[in-house]
Amino acid sequence: MASTETQVEAIANAAQGQRSIDVENPATGAVIATVPDLTAAEIAALATRARAAQPEWEALGFEGRARIMLRAQKWLMDNAQRVIEVIVSETGKSWEDAQTAEISYGGAAFGFWAKHAEDYLGDEKVHSSNLLVTGKKLITRYKPLGLIGVIGPWNYPLTNSFGDCIPALMAGNAVILKPSEVTPLTSMLLAEGMRECGLPEDVFQVATGRGEAGAALVDEVDMIMFTGSTKTGKAVAVKAAERLIPASLELGGKDPFIVLSDADLERAANTAVWSSFMNGGQTCVSTERVYVEAPVYDEFVAKVTEKASKLRQGVPDGFGSVEVGAVTFPPQADIIEAHVKDAVAKGARVVVGGHRAAGPGRFFEPTVLVDVDHTMDAMTQETFGPTMPIMKVADAEEAIRLANDSQYGLAASVFSKDVARGEAVARRLQAGAVNVNDALLNYTALELPMGGWKASGLGSRHGAGGIRKYCAQQAILVSRLHLKRDVHHFPNKVGTSRLIGRLFKFLYGRGKRD
Ligand code: NDP
Repeated sequence: MASTETQVEAIANAAQGQRSIDVENPATGAVIATVPDLTAAEIAALATRARAAQPEWEALGFEGRARIMLRAQKWLMDNAQRVIEVIVSETGKSWEDAQTAEISYGGAAFGFWAKHAEDYLGDEKVHSSNLLVTGKKLITRYKPLGLIGVIGPWNYPLTNSFGDCIPALMAGNAVILKPSEVTPLTSMLLAEGMRECGLPEDVFQVATGRGEAGAALVDEVDMIMFTGSTKTGKAVAVKAAERLIPASLELGGKDPFIVLSDADLERAANTAVWSSFMNGGQTCVSTERVYVEAPVYDEFVAKVTEKASKLRQGVPDGFGSVEVGAVTFPPQADIIEAHVKDAVAKGARVVVGGHRAAGPGRFFEPTVLVDVDHTMDAMTQETFGPTMPIMKVADAEEAIRLANDSQYGLAASVFSKDVARGEAVARRLQAGAVNVNDALLNYTALELPMGGWKASGLGSRHGAGGIRKYCAQQAILVSRLHLKRDVHHFPNKVGTSRLIGRLFKFLYGRGKRD
């Protein structure tokens, strides 16, 4: 089997732009490929080609498009090892992170959207109680918008970049994906796979480039699906507003994890360690801060300390080699270090890790902090790294208040053996998704909407809303049986108007007034 570097080199041969971007393996520091840095004019040319290809793709219908998606699902499974190698090479994540959170997502998403797109987007017959439309045919119809731009982050090149292209394509749109400049290779490989599976030329294209390429893409498309930081998301939203195109924004988070005193502490500790450190803490829905009720605080911290101390970190070299991989994005290591230093300067204690790990790659040790509070950036700003700050709280009320004391509202977790109590707490949290006695797993239920509240986003992915957003809604009314002249048609006549008035009173005026 060819090595990762060879495969990446093969992809890089496709890169022929004049301006280019070097892609680094964050776990080794080696440059593994060079990709084109597209200009605004080149992105406009991609858009022209996409628009030309889209009508034929739409005309294939749900069944025709689903056939290609199911072929792509099979392709992904047949090529899983190759895709994992490319993901790992450009992100530095563990093989398990690439398999569990990326390959599995892609496999499920191809199947899910192939099967359900028509359920969500097929014509809906509507019944209205309004007498004026009695006997008329009423339909809600979903028409693909045309050309969708997807802009993705570097933490999940398959799940959070390519993943959103699947429903957009299944809806009948052409798609241009702008991956992060740090992780473009997975998207390029998937474009190759889609071509092999028979996706017509230009229906799906990858626009490699920097932030400016993303901005240029917003100028060309009919709708933008953005995943990334809140800061860039706001800039994208402003640009989209100027063009009056819809934007769906999946942004940052500072997800709380609440451990109530009646929790199964062993499960809570195992879950917290996993949800804080999987993918090196670089998951939008990572656990970013933990609140533990005072009676179980010491025992929970002891369990977490023991488990976090045993995590292995280093260059991922196949399954089972490490638990925690590299820091993918160079500036992120500075942010992680700054948050830890800020916390320590304000009185926090490091009980595990706390430092950058030795190179040549870019690593930050899995870190557990205690004695933290909300004066510290580690508890209020998105760290997006392998850190777990744990705060003691007096009771559930304090945990809820602190969990909601955030600009973000992406996801959250609550642990309690009393599931009714856990669910009651969940309903009081300001977050788009809450897991009771679990973390992150809601994301795998593609039937459930996933979207952030507050500064964590606008709109959602998954479920009906996750595909309808790629369409324009059209209301169709068909009048089949009718008179030559309806009562509301001109000319206005006193007698008819009075009759209509009496009818309205009869219909709407008989309720009690309290
Ligand atoms: P960024 O916001 O820095 O970048 C996201 C994407 O936007 C990249 O492709 C980037 O290109 C591009 N971009 C940069 N500037 C512009 C611009 N002016 N106009 C259009 N596009 C632009 O985010 P990160 O890549 O750092 O991703 C990490 C963030 O993503 C975290 O905050 C994380 O929480 C969030 N995230 C949210 C998820 C969710 O579902 N809510 C899921 C995953 C991540 P380039 O990289 O080339 O600069």
